[in-house]
Amino acid sequence: MSHDPWLLTPGPLTTSPSVKQAMLHDWGSRDGKFVAINNRMRERLVAMIGGQGAFTCVPMQGAGTFAVEAMVNSFVPADGKLLVLVNGNYGKRIVRMCDYSKRAVVHLDWADDQPVDPARVGKALAADPAITHVAVVHCETTSGILNPLPEMARVVAAAGRKLLIDSMSAFGALELDSRSVPFQAVAASSNKCIEGVPGLSFVLARIDDLKQSAGRAPCLSLDLHDQWQALEKTGQYRFTPPIHCIVAFDQALTEHEVEGGVAGRGARYRQNWQTLVDGMRALGFETLLPDELQAPIIVTFRMPADPRFQFQTFYDKLKDRGYVIYPGTLTATPSFRIGCIGRLDQSHMKGVTAAIREAMAEMGVASGSPLKQSAE
Ligand SMILES: *Cc1c(COP(=O)(O)O)cnc(C)c1O
Repeated sequence: MSHDPWLLTPGPLTTSPSVKQAMLHDWGSRDGKFVAINNRMRERLVAMIGGQGAFTCVPMQGAGTFAVEAMVNSFVPADGKLLVLVNGNYGKRIVRMCDYSKRAVVHLDWADDQPVDPARVGKALAADPAITHVAVVHCETTSGILNPLPEMARVVAAAGRKLLIDSMSAFGALELDSRSVPFQAVAASSNKCIEGVPGLSFVLARIDDLKQSAGRAPCLSLDLHDQWQALEKTGQYRFTPPIHCIVAFDQALTEHEVEGGVAGRGARYRQNWQTLVDGMRALGFETLLPDELQAPIIVTFRMPADPRFQFQTFYDKLKDRGYVIYPGTLTATPSFRIGCIGRLDQSHMKGVTAAIREAMAEMGVASGSPLKQSAE
């Protein structure tokens, strides 16, 4: 294998050579050119949700979880109460954040193959006036399900509460327009659908609400308001920024624009998804989700029933052929996942399904069907 493996995972992802190339320099954090790049990055991210004037971008050093935690703890006040909508692991993680920060939290749960239901949320909000905020995951990467964000946002706004969105795995590929979808803040990161490298996360926050969040954060490093104020006043991060990552992210944002922005990026991922799913279904595999619930981000396939199918062997055989899929069942049903995002196109999706066909033949597995085959 002469190239790096193709990463068919939910992140970190395959990046373009030009994004990697952008990191081959050393920069001082006070370098005027770097400060300008950082400012441009913040403006481009705000523009991506049509948030000019109303929203600001607060970048946070670290993995995506850091931005989600900064958002939750900086917006939900100590005397507030958060309702978390849970249909997978990332929703559960937000509940755990509140346990750490001692924020009052309640959650509504759905099975991992069910989207969150706006009507049920409306009832829960009507029944509990103490709830001040609602948190929802845009695409629940656990299964790859798309939650009905616009409908949810309308229900939350109609009930006079504030919506916090974890759009980590969807941001940049699925439309989110702050002019038509009401929300308070959204968190995402550099290394998913924007196709940068890992190391930077960010929150796009409504400026009016952010102004009121001073002094709320229970810890210094994830204080969104303090981070924002420092950036506004000095153009500087409070603590060492991941400079190489930010410069690469700026390059990735340029490539995102060249591809046609959210619409163009989303279209490529939808083609990737269709090619992958068609190829896998032809081999007998079944998806956990029906197509209408599926985001074109990551697909969960049910584990084949054939006892000769050994996942670790399968995984290793694909890795030997240059494709890294995502091991580990997170859903209630035994399954594995294959991602559609990153600098990959239909040729990679055809490549991985061809590699899967070969791996199955070597294992003596005739079909990827999760149903027990009747004895011949
Ligand atoms: C990837 C992801 C995160 C954050 O993951 P990190 O490993 O912290 O970068 C959060 N929420 C969702 C929905 C994700 O897909």
